Amino acid sequence: MQFNTHFNDIAQSYLFSTVAQKVAAYQAANPGKQVLRLGIGDVTLPLAPAVIAALHSAVDDMSRRETFRGYGPEQGYDFLREAVRGYYAERGVELLPDEIFISDGAKSDLGNILDIFSDANTVLVTDPVYPVYVDTNVMAGRKVIYADANEGNGFLPMPDYSVDADIVYLCSPNNPTGAAYTVAQVQEWVDYANAKGAVILYDAAYECFVTDDSLARTIFQAKGAKTCAIEFCSLSKTAGFTGTRCGYTVVPKALQRGGMSANAMWLRRQTTKFNGVPYIIQRGAAAVFTPEGRSQIQANLAVYQGNAKLIADCMDSLGIWYTGGKNSPYIWLRCPGGMDSWQFFDHLLQNIQVVGTPGVGFGANGEGYFRLTAFGSPEVTREAVARLKALFAK
Ligand code: PLP
Repeated sequence: MQFNTHFNDIAQSYLFSTVAQKVAAYQAANPGKQVLRLGIGDVTLPLAPAVIAALHSAVDDMSRRETFRGYGPEQGYDFLREAVRGYYAERGVELLPDEIFISDGAKSDLGNILDIFSDANTVLVTDPVYPVYVDTNVMAGRKVIYADANEGNGFLPMPDYSVDADIVYLCSPNNPTGAAYTVAQVQEWVDYANAKGAVILYDAAYECFVTDDSLARTIFQAKGAKTCAIEFCSLSKTAGFTGTRCGYTVVPKALQRGGMSANAMWLRRQTTKFNGVPYIIQRGAAAVFTPEGRSQIQANLAVYQGNAKLIADCMDSLGIWYTGGKNSPYIWLRCPGGMDSWQFFDHLLQNIQVVGTPGVGFGANGEGYFRLTAFGSPEVTREAVARLKALFAK
């Protein structure tokens, strides 16, 4: 037996464990101090009442012989796929029912989709980056190259035709930078992918935070995207499903290469290795798309959006450069005073007990930057903002 030695090539990430250790050490030494956590990427508000009611009723379905469900369709129940199809139709995107695959969240499918691509492909990711895109490819031995995201391009790199990539990852609104592409910018990436014969793996996990009409909610708003893109979306941030687990992946039938169809291959892959998302969870997920569910979820999103605005306004008042905040739950700021990411982390922890995430943990281009998130409570966010202002106001 031989292990997959590519696992030796995965960079060890000490980011969140180092953050946790530093915070624990600080708290042990300063038990009286209240630490405010603005580093979390997890939601904090409970599921919407409409979702809870649907989950309860689906549990009852499982208790009766007539409504009990066993194995479901691997690609998801029609009632949920139709709801997702309707959601896309609202943005003018017409999908076929069998282009939609229900998943247990974006992360699994982002990794699993690689089953349908050759290991010989070259992968282009942005730097900084959500580490899953890199690690899943390094595990398979694929070559990973980077597109620079930086202040010069607003942390939104555009295609470079001198670079040949086969698989391109785009995440918009972005984790960690909060920056979001316009439909016109996404169109440029789609044109690049179609010209190069590449595929774009488009992560729309934060699309629900987009409020500006010029920004993309889905890559399929760009013309020609169906011949070059697969989209991953999730109810994790949209509807607080991080612990409940449900998402959806769109694999267009028009995405074909060398006589092979991405949609047919993904269906084959899923029916071979996946037995579907639980019926109960899919019923809860379908409630997200009902009028009642939509308005309840919007109320939760408004809380996070309010937090993001508080943090963004604070940066504006302090004259600190940042991206995100408006169409994203993330605020990505340049560390003041020329501090590097970890110096700034320590500075905030020691002086005002505010915890965020050092940008360098997401890639070399993140050095000197810092991520704050809007997923805390409004009380904690307000207090953190007050402390930031007191620390940095001249
Ligand atoms: N994609 C991005 C960019 C994320 O930040 C996250 C989670 O934080 C995910 C995907 C994973 O989402 P899910 O909970 O649907 O697996």
